[in-house]
Amino acid sequence: MTDVAQLEPWQWPEEHWRGLVNHVRAGQAYRPTTWKDGARCAFALSFDSDHETNELRDGGKSIGRMAWGQYGARVGVPKILDLLARHSVPASFFVPAVTALLYPDEQRRIVSEGHEIGIHSWIHELNSVLPYGAERDLMM
Ligand SMILES: [Zn+2]
Repeated sequence: MTDVAQLEPWQWPEEHWRGLVNHVRAGQAYRPTTWKDGARCAFALSFDSDHETNELRDGGKSIGRMAWGQYGARVGVPKILDLLARHSVPASFFVPAVTALLYPDEQRRIVSEGHEIGIHSWIHELNSVLPYGAERDLMM
């Protein structure tokens, strides 16, 4: 008998991939029959303020990628915040801790304008490949 752990995903038997999908399926639909105040739909806006952490996470020192990340802090987030304010729309910003340390004023502005900040790792590390204990330590 073949050990599924030794197989590549494209080699998995149907029973295996169906089991993985069914393991995380929600049991019921949460869509209400009507939305509040007769709205046609509901939505959430969320943004990742990763900035330079994409490059840092990979151990890189690319000036170009760092500049790309800094553009998010200098131009991207302020433009998003201005747009959200113009339309009075609250949003969620997911921020790596290192980003928050690099740009504390950005975080203050996000919160002061009525948005929420969610944890988004320490340095944008790939949580899916971290040991549980390391992920927990970084979150704490
Ligand atoms: Zn991200």
